[in-house]
Amino acid sequence: MKIAVLPGDGIGPEIVAQAAKVLETLRRDGLKIEMEYAHIGGAGYDAAGDPLPDATLELAQASDAVLLGAVGGYQYDTLARPLRPEQGLLRIRKGLSLFANLRPALVYPELVNASSLKPELVSGLDIMILRELTGDIYFGQPRGIRTLDNGERQGFDTMLYSESEIHRVAHVGFQIAMKRNKKLCSVDKANVLDTSMFWREIVTDVAKEYPAVALSHMYVDNAAMQLVRAPKQFDVILTGNIFGDILSDEASMLTGSIGMLPSASLDANNKGLYEPCHGSAPDIAGKDIANPLATILSVAMMMRYTFAREDIAQRIETAVRKTLQQGLRTADIAEAGKQKIGTAAMGDAVVAAL
Ligand code: NAD
Repeated sequence: MKIAVLPGDGIGPEIVAQAAKVLETLRRDGLKIEMEYAHIGGAGYDAAGDPLPDATLELAQASDAVLLGAVGGYQYDTLARPLRPEQGLLRIRKGLSLFANLRPALVYPELVNASSLKPELVSGLDIMILRELTGDIYFGQPRGIRTLDNGERQGFDTMLYSESEIHRVAHVGFQIAMKRNKKLCSVDKANVLDTSMFWREIVTDVAKEYPAVALSHMYVDNAAMQLVRAPKQFDVILTGNIFGDILSDEASMLTGSIGMLPSASLDANNKGLYEPCHGSAPDIAGKDIANPLATILSVAMMMRYTFAREDIAQRIETAVRKTLQQGLRTADIAEAGKQKIGTAAMGDAVVAAL
């Protein structure tokens, strides 16, 4: 298991250090794990003048999987756009052809009160959001700001999806649904957008190859509403890049803390980049208070999706559950007045539970 480790910025190094402890423990148990570190984001800019240094992309390409912390920081906000930390992230996703972004939204019984919704709405919630990651309006050309003949300035972007892009992500969606409750809801805006009409046509076509999966379609505005009205109606949600960006953040709040949410971004061969859903949290960086569980749970996803080791994935997830059952909480998930532990202590607790 050759793993490229990219801590990045802000809390990135602190939380990745805890996930690395978990990997070290698994290695001591006999797994053949190799870890090699490189810079990305602001750390890449500081080290090599580039948010994705060539050496980092080469290491990622030569590895089976990538573990990433987070990128971004106030000190980089004034850099020219190509040098900003987020560009490192966009470029590594593109460079590794990571088109399928998996974001589970799972409510742990111990944390049901941390959700912004009533416990009965979210208790037992287990949704998987599959967001297409390399197409759509985020990458479509042309884009820019132009001046019209009448002198008025105009901003514009292009939403587009090619058939093959929809095809491959739809297959991933149906395959995930087959391993879960066999329900897939494709989210689009087919009542207004031609791109969405086309999306719906292709997804419906791919569905014929998975007769065991119940396919439904939903407009994105309704999906946004249903996610807070009755989120347990969903199993797998399949959607495009921009809708998935928004819906997956919305779904993350159902679970209480963004500090609990892992993610995976996969290519066609299940090579993957694994990272927490949250950002670099510069407001709490260096204080040993960030929650490392999203990053540790990203390692569990890595074992499941890239290395096909469901047994190890479950072992890590069970260890996380045990630490929660013991009442251990970082500040973001602690109830008012209850005791809190730091980032490193939480990492140690998970290792002990492993
Ligand atoms: P953020 O996710 O970094 O932080 C949002 C809030 O959640 C903050 O109050 C933060 O303290 C808290 N938080 C985040 N992760 C936490 C954790 N593990 N434990 C406890 N609390 C946690 O989002 P933001 O503040 O909008 O962005 C900060 C920087 O991160 C920006 O530079 C942004 O561009 C970048 N960012 C990066 C990624 C990524 O690397 N994938 C994603 C989103 C934002």
